[in-house]
Amino acid sequence: MASGICGTDLHIYHGEYLGDYPVIPGHEFSGVVTSVGSLVKRFKIGDRVAVEPNIACDNCDHCLNNRQNFCLNWQAVGVTLPGGMAQFVTAPEKVVFDIGDLAFEQGAFVEPLSCVIHGVERARIKLGDRIAILGAGPIGNLILQVSRLQGAAHITVLENNPGRADLARNIGSDIVVNDIEDLILDGYDVVIDATGVIPVMNRTIDFARKGGTVLLFGVPPSGANIEMEAFKLFHKGLTLLSSFTSVRNSFQAIHLLQSGQIQVEPLISHRLPIQALPDAIRMIERHDPTVKKVVILPNG
Ligand SMILES: [Zn+2]
Ligand SMILES: [Zn+2]
Repeated sequence: MASGICGTDLHIYHGEYLGDYPVIPGHEFSGVVTSVGSLVKRFKIGDRVAVEPNIACDNCDHCLNNRQNFCLNWQAVGVTLPGGMAQFVTAPEKVVFDIGDLAFEQGAFVEPLSCVIHGVERARIKLGDRIAILGAGPIGNLILQVSRLQGAAHITVLENNPGRADLARNIGSDIVVNDIEDLILDGYDVVIDATGVIPVMNRTIDFARKGGTVLLFGVPPSGANIEMEAFKLFHKGLTLLSSFTSVRNSFQAIHLLQSGQIQVEPLISHRLPIQALPDAIRMIERHDPTVKKVVILPNG
C-alpha cells in the first residue's frame, strides 16, 4: 500500500550497492496480507503489516551471536529479492510485523526508523548531550527526533537545502545552520553524519568534543575513501562508529510511531503512483528543495 524511496534505492539504481539487477526495489513498505502460506501462524488475510526487509538465516555465526544484520546468508526484500515497489510482494513470516491501526504511510517508515534506532542506540546519547546532525533529509530528521527522545538537550542541524532546513526547524532542532563552517569546533558530545557525502564525513571529527562520539550513519558510495587526521582522532580520544541496518528494532519503531512520539507525516513530500517511480528517482536526484520523503502507493 505504501513504499518509501530511500537513498539506498538510488545507490541500488546506480549499481553502487549490494543488490544485483534485475531487482524490484522497495525495502520500506507496508500493506495488507492477501495470502498466507500453510505454515504461517501469526498472520491472516486482511492483517495490516510492515516488513523488516533484512532476512537472516538464524543459523550462522553472526546470527547465533545476535548480529543478524551481518548474516552470512543475508537476503533483503527490495535489495536481493523482489521488493515493495509492486502491487504484491512476498516475505517470510519472521520479517513481517503487525502495525495495527497505523497508517500505511507511517508503516513505510518502520524500516528506516528501525535503522535510526539502531544507530542512535549505538551512539549512546546521554541525558543532556549536545548533538550535531549533519544532513536533514528524512533520515536526519528521524535521527533528530530519536536523539531528542534519548535525552539530547541541544540539537544543531547542518542542512543547506532550504526545504529540509525548514523541516528540521519545525520538527524540533534548536539551531539549523546551512554552512559547515558555522558548526562549533570541538562543540558536540555526539556528531552524526546523515549525508553519506565524503567531504562532510571527513569533517565530523572536527566538531566532536574531546572524548566525544562520531556516528557515520549516511550511506556513502562504495569504493570512496574518507580522509581524517589520524592524530586528531587519537588526541581527541574519539569514539568513531558506523551503523549497518538494524537488529530486531521493528517493534521499537512500531511502538514509537503508534505512540506519536515520532512524527513522520511532515517528512513526506510526495505520494505518487507506481508508474511515477522512475520520475520520482530523477526528481530526488535533482535535489529539488521541495522533495523530502517520496512514498509510492502501488495500489493507491
Ligand atoms: Zn532504506
Ligand atoms: Zn545468518
